[in-house]
Amino acid sequence: MNEITFYGGVGEIGGNKILLKSPETKVFLDFGKSFGKEKFFYKEPYLSPRNEDQLLNLGLLPKIEGIYKDDLEPNVDGVIVSHPHLDHWGYTCYLDNRIPIYCGEDTKTVIVNYEQSSSAGPSKDYYLAHLTKNIDKEYKDFRTFTSGSRKTIGDIHIEPVNVNHSVPGAYGFIIRIGSKTLVYTGDFRVQGLESKKSEEFLEKASKTDVDLLITEATNIVGGQISSEIEVEGKMERLISKTTGLVVVSFSLRDIERLKSVYQAAIKNDRKIAVSSKQAYLLRSLRDEPKIDIFDINDEDVLVFGKEKSRISEWERRLIDEVEVLNGKEINPIQEDVVLVASYYDMNELMDVEPVSDSIFILSQSEPFDEEGEIQYEKLLNWCEHYGLPQYQIHVSGHVLPHELKKAIKTIDPDRVIPIHNERPDLFKRYMSDLDIDIELPMLNQTVKF
Ligand SMILES: [Zn+2]
Repeated sequence: MNEITFYGGVGEIGGNKILLKSPETKVFLDFGKSFGKEKFFYKEPYLSPRNEDQLLNLGLLPKIEGIYKDDLEPNVDGVIVSHPHLDHWGYTCYLDNRIPIYCGEDTKTVIVNYEQSSSAGPSKDYYLAHLTKNIDKEYKDFRTFTSGSRKTIGDIHIEPVNVNHSVPGAYGFIIRIGSKTLVYTGDFRVQGLESKKSEEFLEKASKTDVDLLITEATNIVGGQISSEIEVEGKMERLISKTTGLVVVSFSLRDIERLKSVYQAAIKNDRKIAVSSKQAYLLRSLRDEPKIDIFDINDEDVLVFGKEKSRISEWERRLIDEVEVLNGKEINPIQEDVVLVASYYDMNELMDVEPVSDSIFILSQSEPFDEEGEIQYEKLLNWCEHYGLPQYQIHVSGHVLPHELKKAIKTIDPDRVIPIHNERPDLFKRYMSDLDIDIELPMLNQTVKF
């Protein structure tokens, strides 16, 4: 008999931490940060958790012996990270560094890039990787895979398959233990540019006799019918009707959105000005042959950076390769630019001085985003200050309810458990016409299969 215990992702969006226990092996499926639950107690940057003991005390980390840094011997064989969103890997920083992290090669690239240009943990004791002038180090034991390859951990056999989501390096998993098969979707969608990947995953899963499906169900509360192609088209049309500066805000690591904005810009004979962190990510993704994205040296790409007194090593490496423009340098060319900037860049816009007939496009979900909460009210105040009307053009990174129902029908498991959603009961009622056992997960409780 195998066991699954849910330590996160239950009744919440993200924070997935699912312990899978077979007769011989124990692995976590994701070990993500619980944004919602952290916000219940903390307010960054004024008050944030300092160590695992505080999160354990608050019940945000699972109380399991042998997984944290002070424990003598790790008693978990690994963490399988589905994709590089913090709500799926953000708490791995608290785990013993001897516990291997299994993830896609591209997933690792995005995580290491994140750690080099910021860091997930509360202090240097919690770095997954680190970059300074003298240090370029990975502290975790990353064991990477590619789509369709197989990984064996003890008696658990894992087949990772690329899926389409709002970040590169997203995988779903077909997991075989003895005669049993478990499918874990991670986060996925079928309305993106590369949604064929998700369809291939569903197709592969459908060819197996699936005992248990653990699926994301983020959008069970509603979603907009749209697609990444439509997003690009809407942006292109809106930009064509604008004579001033166009500012677009979206999730930094959403490479498909970046592509859409780039296309919409060049079709309007504008250049795209990406943020320096985004430029650094593009630089890292060059080594990922499967990720098709433009280069920072592309003639239609500019890099926009903050004025800083101290330059980090990742910024130094970027500056060595490309010119980073400040607000004053964007000012004279603003009518020919689509500027990627978020709420956190609003100070810098002062030097850009947006001319009249400039606009702001919010291209992310509001107010919640997997990379954190955006400050919607404050953002509106800034937009008013600069005279920027705000448009929302967005498509979710998650599958819509009717598409999810179709996906479950395709996989045709014996049992399904929805996670990564706030209304599991709604899921159960909506899916009740499927001839499938629907079980709702309970926090810290174990199901057998
Ligand atoms: Zn995600």
